[in-house]
Amino acid sequence: MSDVILRVDDLKTYFNTDDGIVKAVDGVSFELKKGEMLGIVGESGSGKSVTNLSLMKLIPSPPGKIMNGTAMFDGENIFDMSDEEIRKLRGNRIGMIFQDPMTSLNPFLRISTQMIETIVLHQKLEKDAARNRAVEMLEMVGIPNPEKRINDYPHQFSGGMRQRVMIAMALSCDPEILIADEPTSALDVTIQAQIIEVIQELSRKLNTAVIMITHDLGVVAGICDTVCVMYAGRIVEKGTNDEIFKDPKHPYTQGLIKSVPRLDQPSKERLFSIDGQPPNVIDLPECCPFHPRCDKAMAKCKNTYPPLTTFGEGREVRCWLYEEDK
Ligand code: SF4
Repeated sequence: MSDVILRVDDLKTYFNTDDGIVKAVDGVSFELKKGEMLGIVGESGSGKSVTNLSLMKLIPSPPGKIMNGTAMFDGENIFDMSDEEIRKLRGNRIGMIFQDPMTSLNPFLRISTQMIETIVLHQKLEKDAARNRAVEMLEMVGIPNPEKRINDYPHQFSGGMRQRVMIAMALSCDPEILIADEPTSALDVTIQAQIIEVIQELSRKLNTAVIMITHDLGVVAGICDTVCVMYAGRIVEKGTNDEIFKDPKHPYTQGLIKSVPRLDQPSKERLFSIDGQPPNVIDLPECCPFHPRCDKAMAKCKNTYPPLTTFGEGREVRCWLYEEDK
């Protein structure tokens, strides 16, 4: 039996604006296996968050619209589900955490009220059992003295602790998939590392598949099993963690890796950054959208979008440099 839990195929999500059609996601395909940690990486505007909002059918429509594609979850296409079915899926079988927990937590309600309500709603447990489950989850994510802290309000927690509460809440209903959208961007580096460790540990322990969305390749290094690199609405490189970090093929991935600060780098050395800005994805011409920033660009890069080249199972790149290897 296949252990693929989610298969996204040729997803296209466009936004109709006064200036033209924004092709925020333009033909994205990937698979997620049970218990796998998948990193989706790219600069802001690359389409990574829109991809995941599309999967949850959270795209504001209008102006947004899922134009094409399927997202098969447990044999059903998410895009064909009714509003009622998708509501049951969210928070229950697919959990989500976002960058700023304060936008997801109600500041006027105690953590106990918010967590117990979620568990009662999705797990159909009695209040006492739901409370026990909530305390157990808070303990699992490393909140000290959870029996007492569960009665606190969100503002009584630090930023890192609030994010731990969100992780506990998202995982309290045993979801099969956890989508973490920039979960550590608002936190300082030490706390970032702790939160990533908590997500990784719990994913392994509970066999929850994780989609980790981030602009920072350093966040996925070493923890994600598979990495997809997105640029201008498409996945330009895909591979295992080892393949991406030891043998990056796309010039954009190579640039992202060079921009990650390293401990063995002299502290006075300037950090590398990729020249230029990501393109405007309105009415993008059919060329390689990275060509104005690419030091390996050739004439054909400016005229035609590069085809997909595969190097064994699950290893893919979209760059004219590898056309002959195909
Ligand atoms: Fe650079 Fe051309 Fe490859 Fe695009 S297709 S990344 S411009 S070499």
